[in-house]
Amino acid sequence: MITFVISFFIFGLIVGSFLNVLAFRLRDAETLLGKSFCRSCKNQIRWYDNIPLISFALLRGLCRDCETKISWQYPLVEMLTGVLFALTGYFFFSESSMLSWLETAWLLGILSCFIVIAVYDLKYMEVPLNMLIISALLIYVFLIAHFVLAPEPFFVSRLWYGFLGGAVVAGFFFLLVFWSREKWMGWGDVWLGFVSGSVVGVPLILPLLTLSFGLGAIAGLLAIAYGDKNLKSQIAFAPFLISGTIVTLFLERIFPSLFRFFIL
Ligand SMILES: [Zn+2]
Repeated sequence: MITFVISFFIFGLIVGSFLNVLAFRLRDAETLLGKSFCRSCKNQIRWYDNIPLISFALLRGLCRDCETKISWQYPLVEMLTGVLFALTGYFFFSESSMLSWLETAWLLGILSCFIVIAVYDLKYMEVPLNMLIISALLIYVFLIAHFVLAPEPFFVSRLWYGFLGGAVVAGFFFLLVFWSREKWMGWGDVWLGFVSGSVVGVPLILPLLTLSFGLGAIAGLLAIAYGDKNLKSQIAFAPFLISGTIVTLFLERIFPSLFRFFIL
């Protein structure tokens, strides 16, 4: 079991280092396959300086050529992806169940999309449309496959609950955006709300919304307390919605009894 979780972790580290690059290259519409280079001196990064976590530590966070500081975003995203992949392997994967193979693969994909969206929104205050489309496709391909492989009556199926959850969250955000004239959140958040609501499904959208707004409020208060922002300045909402979605997904697996409250 432990070697198995470690493999998921290492796989996550490798994917995480790719996601870092993706968040940059989506913005500049660069090719996704080119070699990575230093943003400052444009020198190509050597393969041995591109090892997740280890290279950052060995280089002490500086470029080998020009000694420009490398952003903390890189090791943090790698670590986060590694940990989330390991948790997915531990809580969702079971070798004997075909459905769990599908669910694990899907979850690794959707988590990767979520990480890119959160990083992108933090950097540029914008939700990247192409990642939204990919995650919407991922969730509905999975929900439809789930419906086909594990037949259940449509109106109690995960597909229907997912669609309902997506529609309710998106509808709620739509009203917030519409009434606030995009002051509280943007149109990108409405689409992301649809994806997040579809991922957790109907009863769980309650803890999802509670967690997302709760985390957002705490971060907002901390930012004000430390004088970073005043009440009027905008805070990217996608990272909170995504954190809320991920925490809901895993908590439901870790403490099923905690969540039975929402289902009854
Ligand atoms: Zn450099």
